[in-house]
Amino acid sequence: MKIAVLPGDGIGPEVVAAAVQVLQALGEPFEFEFAEVGGAAYEAYGQPLPEATLALTRAADAVLFGAVGDWKYDALPRALRPEQAILGLRRALGLFANLRPAVCFEPLVAASSLKPELVAGLDILIVRELTGDIYFGQPRGRRLAPDGPFTGAPEGFDTMRYTRPEIERIARVAFEAARRRRRHVTSVDKANVLETSQLWREVVTEVHAEYRDVTLEHLYVDNAAMQLVRAPKYFDVIVTGNLFGDILSDEAAMLTGSIGMLPSASLGESGRGLYEPSHGSAPDIAGKGTANPLATILSAAMMLRHSLGRPAQAARIETAVGKVLAAGLRTPDIASPGMRMVGTREMAAAVVAALPD
Ligand code: NAD
Repeated sequence: MKIAVLPGDGIGPEVVAAAVQVLQALGEPFEFEFAEVGGAAYEAYGQPLPEATLALTRAADAVLFGAVGDWKYDALPRALRPEQAILGLRRALGLFANLRPAVCFEPLVAASSLKPELVAGLDILIVRELTGDIYFGQPRGRRLAPDGPFTGAPEGFDTMRYTRPEIERIARVAFEAARRRRRHVTSVDKANVLETSQLWREVVTEVHAEYRDVTLEHLYVDNAAMQLVRAPKYFDVIVTGNLFGDILSDEAAMLTGSIGMLPSASLGESGRGLYEPSHGSAPDIAGKGTANPLATILSAAMMLRHSLGRPAQAARIETAVGKVLAAGLRTPDIASPGMRMVGTREMAAAVVAALPD
C-alpha cells in the first residue's frame, strides 16, 4: 500500500510526522513517499503543486496531507499561493466527497461550548459535496445590474447548480457510510426555495431506494443549523451540497471543542482519498513542538478505513487516542487544569504506546 505524504507548511510537517509514526507502529506493509506541497513546494520549485508531487499522488493508494499556507505568501499572485495546491489536488484526483466527522471524546466534553449532556457521546459524519454548487457554477461575475429596482448599479452574481450524476454519487457515499454506522442519513437542502435543491431532494430519494436498510430524512438547511446546536446527537450522517456543507461542517466541528482534534477525508470515485486535519498550518505555533497531532492521527485512521480497507487498524488508532485523553495527556490547545501538558512528539509516542493489540 503506497501512501503519498505531503507535509506542507507550518505545523504540517510536525503533525504529519506524528501520524506517520503511528501508522508505522501498526505493523502493516505501508510504503511512504514524501513530496513538497504549498509554500514548501513554491520555495523548492516555484509553484505550490509541482508535477512531481501530482504524479506521486496519482500513483498512490491514498494521500496524507498536512497543511499549507503562511502569511509571508499573501502578496504572491493567486495562482502561486500555497492554498491553490489544495484546489489543484481536488481537481486532479477528482475528490468530490468531503467527509468530516464530529466526534466528542468523553474526556474533552467540557471543551465544547454546549452543555456536556448535549455533546457527550456525539458522533456525527458530515458528507459534503466538494466540486460543484455555487462555488463553481457558471456564469458568475460582476456587472451592472441589467434589470430590477437597482438597474445600472454594480452587482455580483453566482450560479448554484448540480447535475443528477453529481447528486447520485455523493448520495451513494453518504448511504454507504451510514451502512458502516447507525444507518440514518439526513439530507440537507433548501428545497422550499431553490430549484437546485428540489432536484437534489428528488435524486437523493431515488438513490435511497437502493439502500432500504438505511433511513432517510430531509431537512431544510436553516432547520438543520438549528437542530445541530439544539440536539446534535440526533444526527448520524448528514449529506449536503458544497455551500451548506461548508457552513454546517464548521458548526458541527465546534461542537467538539478544539480544531486540533478534527480529521477529514476527501474521496474520489475509486475510493482513493486525501486525508488531512481540518486545521491550517498554524504559523503562530510552527516549530515550537506544541501542535496537537491528534487531528492528523485521526485522519490517518480515516485513511485506513476509507481507502486502505483496514477498518480494524482504524479502530485501534481511535481507541488509542481515547485512551491517551482519558489518561489526562493534553497539548496546550486542549489543556485544562489538572491535566498533563505534552508536546506533539510526546502525544504521538503516547498514542503508539496505547495502541491495543
Ligand atoms: P489555522 O487553523 O492554521 O489556525 C487557527 C488557530 O488554531 C491558530 O491559533 C493555531 O495556532 C490554532 N491551531 C490550528 N491547528 C492547531 C493544532 N493542530 N494544534 C494546536 N493549535 C492549532 O488557521 P489560520 O490561522 O486562519 O490560517 C493559517 C494558515 O493556514 C493560512 O495561511 C491559511 O491560509 C492556511 N490554512 C490552510 C488550510 C489547509 O491547508 N487545509 C486550512 C485552513 C487554513
